[in-house]
Amino acid sequence: MATKKTTALRCPTCGTLVTAGDAEFPFCTDRCRVIDLGKWASGAYRISSPIHDPELLDELDGLRGAGRATSQHLDHDLDENG
Ligand SMILES: [Zn+2]
Repeated sequence: MATKKTTALRCPTCGTLVTAGDAEFPFCTDRCRVIDLGKWASGAYRISSPIHDPELLDELDGLRGAGRATSQHLDHDLDENG
């Protein structure tokens, strides 16, 4: 029973087991490396995510409400066309 110390990881793209000695480690092939880089470039991996917290959105909406009074005077301009 030999205890051979080998570092191995799974390819981030396809999940194939790759040993540390592989030329493309931690990717199984150059193709998988390119695919993974492409994901980063296209934004498939996002570090920050959009806000989905209803309470936080409500709070932001409340902050914007302070300047809401300016939209009313635009309505009567439509009557001149009628
Ligand atoms: Zn792969």
